[in-house]
Amino acid sequence: MKREFIRNTGKPIQGYRFLIQLSFLLLCIWIGIEFYLFISSLNKIGADYFNRPAGVEGFLPISALMSLYYFFMTGEIHPVHPAGFFIFIAILTVSFIYSKSFCSWLCPIGFISETIGDFGEKVIKKIFKRKIKLPSYIDYPLRSLKYLLLGFFIYAIFFAMSASAVKLFLDSEYNKAADLKMYYFFANISQFSLIVISSLFVLSIFIRNFWCRYLCPYGALLGLISFFSPTKIKRNPVSCIDCGLCAKACPSFIKVDKVKTVISDECSMCLSCIDVCPVKDTLDVKVNFTKKKISKKVVAFGVVAIYIAIISIAMISGNWKNKISKEEYSILNKNINILTHPTSTAEIRKMNELSSSSIKPK
Ligand code: SF4
Ligand code: SF4
Repeated sequence: MKREFIRNTGKPIQGYRFLIQLSFLLLCIWIGIEFYLFISSLNKIGADYFNRPAGVEGFLPISALMSLYYFFMTGEIHPVHPAGFFIFIAILTVSFIYSKSFCSWLCPIGFISETIGDFGEKVIKKIFKRKIKLPSYIDYPLRSLKYLLLGFFIYAIFFAMSASAVKLFLDSEYNKAADLKMYYFFANISQFSLIVISSLFVLSIFIRNFWCRYLCPYGALLGLISFFSPTKIKRNPVSCIDCGLCAKACPSFIKVDKVKTVISDECSMCLSCIDVCPVKDTLDVKVNFTKKKISKKVVAFGVVAIYIAIISIAMISGNWKNKISKEEYSILNKNINILTHPTSTAEIRKMNELSSSSIKPK
């Protein structure tokens, strides 16, 4: 017998999500262009310096993790990459409040990965008439790789380094020049790195979200944090008609139709499952314990608002731009090749002594 149900007439949120993701990607591209102009001005003798965009520090997660550790130990915000620290806090907060939502709503890599995945899915569906999903015995071990990478970074920073070693590293010329180093890594990209990036690109066509699902340590951290999130996707098994559309729509292959509450480190609050659910009040974002429903628009607005609010606090409190002068950047830029990554406290100290003696203006 066919079950009667009240049709879900809510409008899909995916269009808004796409616009937010696109805006964030464009913002990152703009930051990249500004940073390129800044470095070009450092390289031209006598040219006017272009302002360095502080937002570039959002691409220095290791330094941000160390700054967070430093903050826990001292209660102070380290002055070398303060914007990176606040961007990191904003990402952690957004992903805590709305379960790993940074990955689906703001992350530019997540957006590119999703776009490649959408394209790949269309092509694969045409050829094989179905989606490709790796079997569990391959999927699970691969998913653990990102946790291994995260574990390595956590161990290296929180356990293998003392607070004074972390401070020494954060103060180091290497850390100061970390954004310049990142720029030169991509500007003079090696053949090996190009092969790795191209391979990830191709793999993402065939295996949806390959980088995010298997390798991204940032995603691993946010996935762990999301377990403690007060908001979750909840299914009402009484009104559910077991159509399975939610599970089919889920880009993370979560069996939404089989659970009451989605508790998964792979759920990134994309809301695709809610958009496709045909029954009213059956699949919603709810606050744990209170069972209060949160509308899709509130999630969309909340993700952006929390992020902007934290960045604004950094700007208003004078903790957005670092105090490194353009002249000092110019000297760091000239000596970029002697600033190698230190692996021990003694090395950091030695490197600091060497670099400060060799880069000091005469
Ligand atoms: S469970 Fe729903 S919100 Fe979570 S990833 Fe899957 S489709 Fe997106
Ligand atoms: S989409 Fe999922 S939650 Fe909604 S009715 Fe179908 S199986 Fe139930």
